Amino acid sequence: MSIAKNLDKINIQLQGTTARLIAVTKTKPIADLEEAYQANCKTFGENKVQEMVEKWEILPKDIEWHLIGHLQSNKVKYMASFVAMIHSVDSLKLLQEINKQATKNNRIIDCLLQIYIAQEETKFGLSQDEAKELLQSDEFKSMKNIKIVGLMGMATNTDDQTQIRLEFRSLKTFFDELKVSIPESDNLQLKEISMGMSGDFLIAAEEGSTLVRVGSAIFGHR
Ligand SMILES: *Cc1c(COP(=O)(O)O)cnc(C)c1O
Repeated sequence: MSIAKNLDKINIQLQGTTARLIAVTKTKPIADLEEAYQANCKTFGENKVQEMVEKWEILPKDIEWHLIGHLQSNKVKYMASFVAMIHSVDSLKLLQEINKQATKNNRIIDCLLQIYIAQEETKFGLSQDEAKELLQSDEFKSMKNIKIVGLMGMATNTDDQTQIRLEFRSLKTFFDELKVSIPESDNLQLKEISMGMSGDFLIAAEEGSTLVRVGSAIFGHR
């Protein structure tokens, strides 16, 4: 199947849900991204800063770039001028660096807090308590060039659909809880829940995802 056909199929599956598609382009050649772009897909997700920068330099500038992978503070400066959303904020220190680089670029960068929802040990993220603590800290409240617009989570890599569904549901429940317990402010406006990948995006969409991050179902196996 072609990239355009895969995109069509997924977009049809997502019709009637709250989820918007982010095409995860990591490791894929520029030609594949161009093919997706020609098919009117202009929202791409990358998990490495250097690869995202290289592709951003070459491709049309109306593409929205989402950084979805684990991020080291010292890499933020390379993408602060153009990144549309950072999904993987997992510490106050990282958020402070994003705020600093966004300030230098005279921008406000949308960010998601990555929340640990999987039972596996390997996934990055904050616990629910750590996320609440971050959002209630004076350091966070003083940041003017970032905006926390939601949460991101990754389910356990398992065939157990019930477990995956319950993990996604726990993220949605926490999102709803935060919305009522912490007041909105200039830098806190919760509206996005980034969850769901190739194997589980339909479950995620049913559980309230607003951003699904789909790679291999569009571009084939990596
Ligand atoms: C690679 C990746 C995806 C997409 O994975 P697929 O299974 O290929 O859809 C989604 N989210 C993150 C954080 C990733 O690193």
